[in-house]
Amino acid sequence: MDLGIEGSELRGATEMTRAKKGRGKRKRSPLFSLKSTIGLLIIFCAGYLVFAPQGIDAELPLLHKGPLSGETILIDPGHGGFDPGACGSIYFEKDIVLNVGLLLGEKLEKAGAKVVYTRTSDDIGEDLQGNTSAYRLGLVEKYQPTIIISVHCNDFEDPKIRGAQVFYNGSGNVRSEELAQFIQDELELHTGTTREISQEIGHFMLDETLVPAVTVETGFLSNPEEEILLGSPSYQEKLAQCIYNAIVSFVNAGQ
Ligand SMILES: [Zn+2]
Repeated sequence: MDLGIEGSELRGATEMTRAKKGRGKRKRSPLFSLKSTIGLLIIFCAGYLVFAPQGIDAELPLLHKGPLSGETILIDPGHGGFDPGACGSIYFEKDIVLNVGLLLGEKLEKAGAKVVYTRTSDDIGEDLQGNTSAYRLGLVEKYQPTIIISVHCNDFEDPKIRGAQVFYNGSGNVRSEELAQFIQDELELHTGTTREISQEIGHFMLDETLVPAVTVETGFLSNPEEEILLGSPSYQEKLAQCIYNAIVSFVNAGQ
């Protein structure tokens, strides 16, 4: 099973190829049908195509020149399928993080990034028999992302504890901490979290990869108020926007 989703670059290339093929075919037609009405129509079309292509060719590449063009970003919504992750009294972690991941991916693609997801639905493959880490790391190996974002929800015995928090591995890529801080700053600004970035996590996606990688714990499902927020589409959109803004800042800072 391959859940890797290719980004807009490939589609753009295919469209351009089609446009070029279409031009070549139609330009030949007037040579053998000048005296017919159809021939006149073809002359008109060919005349248009001679002048129009420059505009088409000039515009298409612009579609790929977003602030994140050249980046391949792997979005890893945690858990899925047989594994619900943290369970609030209303929501499962797996559903919230999938929504946030998909919203984030949409924004990243519009900004020119190639986006790869570890899952785009609740299906993470029952045949993986509970261990999805090798499968997820296999996608890292296959697509060679430049940035990795794992999305999770937190859970704690004290229901008063709340707030989004970003984790990284200090022994991993040197820029992981910087990426974590960009995201934490956005989350602080827009969600009011008072938490700080931390290395106190053991997560395969951070420990076994070499590119800048973070785990975004979007909030605590064990906190009843935060659970309501996490389950709301508008808050999920806000979380995705925070992560997106931070990724753009991070990429700009590295240029
Ligand atoms: Zn989780």
